[in-house]
Amino acid sequence: MTVNVKELINRVPTGLLINNEWVDAKNNETYEVTNPATDEVLAELASAGEGDARAALDAACQAQADWARTSPRERADILRRAFELVHERGEEFAALMTLEMGKPLSEAQGEVTYGAEFLRWFSEETTRLYGRTATLPEGALRMVTRRKPVGPCLLITPWNFPLAMATRKVGPAVAAGCTMVLKPAKLTPLTAQYFAQTMLDAGLPEGVLNVVSGKSASAISTPLMADKRLRKVSFTGSTAVGRTLLKAAADNVLRTSMELGGNAPFIVFEDADIDQAVAGAMGAKMRNIGEACTAANRFLIHESVADEFTEKLVSAIKALKVGNGMEEGVTCGPLITSDAVENMEALVKDAVDHGGKVLVGGSRVDGAGNFFEPTVLRGMDRGARVFQEEIFGPLSPIFTFKTESEVVAAANDTEYGLASYVYTENSDRMWRLADSLEYGLMGYNAGVISNAAAPFGGVKQSGLGREGAAEGIEEYTSVQYIGVRDPYAGQ
Ligand code: NAD
Repeated sequence: MTVNVKELINRVPTGLLINNEWVDAKNNETYEVTNPATDEVLAELASAGEGDARAALDAACQAQADWARTSPRERADILRRAFELVHERGEEFAALMTLEMGKPLSEAQGEVTYGAEFLRWFSEETTRLYGRTATLPEGALRMVTRRKPVGPCLLITPWNFPLAMATRKVGPAVAAGCTMVLKPAKLTPLTAQYFAQTMLDAGLPEGVLNVVSGKSASAISTPLMADKRLRKVSFTGSTAVGRTLLKAAADNVLRTSMELGGNAPFIVFEDADIDQAVAGAMGAKMRNIGEACTAANRFLIHESVADEFTEKLVSAIKALKVGNGMEEGVTCGPLITSDAVENMEALVKDAVDHGGKVLVGGSRVDGAGNFFEPTVLRGMDRGARVFQEEIFGPLSPIFTFKTESEVVAAANDTEYGLASYVYTENSDRMWRLADSLEYGLMGYNAGVISNAAAPFGGVKQSGLGREGAAEGIEEYTSVQYIGVRDPYAGQ
């Protein structure tokens, strides 16, 4: 690790980005960003209020018309330069993510690759935004359709993937020709600030990307969501906040993209390769300390292989090294807040009250930072909170099943529908599961499936819309139909 942390933090802009200038908040308010591994304050940032949010939208609205007229190649080139710059600054981005969010450095480096890929992918998609033409059935009109930028967007991102959640929204918005106001999570704004500066360094014109972070999310989002000039909100975060934003969006008839919570089933059939399933489970569960919307939430294991799977999962979990993600060899960092640690304690207690046994872990780690031991639980009934709720931490609850129809019903017994995982060597069964699981994503003998070129998103209360892939750019466009009089009509 060659990055000098103090010097790096000093280079991260601390202001609000409005019209390509980093400025203080109008009321001079600030807030602190802390390191979840040490409880130390990393930086103090300007905290936006309503006036700042409006100034950011003013800038976005002013820039929108000219930005929409730029050529696809011009926008593609900016994204491509940004992709290259994020890689050049990869060590710095990785360090910032580990410092403010806690994930181990090697995983943060993985997020640099994953996050940058949205910039490369959408730089390529910029030049492939096609419409259609047809002679309409009656022959009187010829149809031309075009995809136009939807207009100024509000982008709200969570703390768990500080770079990738920003690039997954900013990339397609830039590609489509939209201007935007980005509101990063207050727990992890440093990566987003550094990314925004990187977008400016890549040549993004004035007012296209404005960034307002602050201690009160609703002080920023409420006035913007009610502003008639805003055209779209793209949100990644909890289902509870998503519902609030959808209600506000209804009043202003905004376009919405919602990437919300999950409660992923990880299903292992009796014919699965158990070693492969355990390796997949470690990725699906322990990536990001379990703080991922795609995290395996409920392990549903066929009763005939449950002992073998449990034994192998317990030994893989025992091999993890918990600690400060900046240290060599650490594979499991701290949770984001002390509240999250308390939630893990409450979930473990509830599982035990429902008949569960703690096979490994189960407790917080004393001392500085928000550490909780990676934990495996087994034997609780399906009334336990770990079956019903999104865990968002390093708990692996194991449940067993007897039949395919039983496990499908159990897997679908949730309001969520984001990621699901199926391990079986029987491809017919895989297709039956793909048909009957109510999930936007399914990993088949694979525990980590997110990719910039694949459409990511949920059904049911996990959200609306898709990010990444060809679908990702369409979320930032609206279709215009032009009806052209056919020159031979009526002849
Ligand atoms: P959160 O909903 O608390 O916050 C997400 C963002 O919304 C943050 O920027 C926050 O400041 C902002 N926010 C909070 N209250 C708001 C309000 N009233 N109005 C406007 N904005 C508000 O979620 P979180 O704790 O940051 O992230 C964890 C959640 O995000 C989990 O449920 C996880 O599943 C979900 N998530 C989903 C995806 C996905 O792609 N589906 C990806 C990552 C995380």
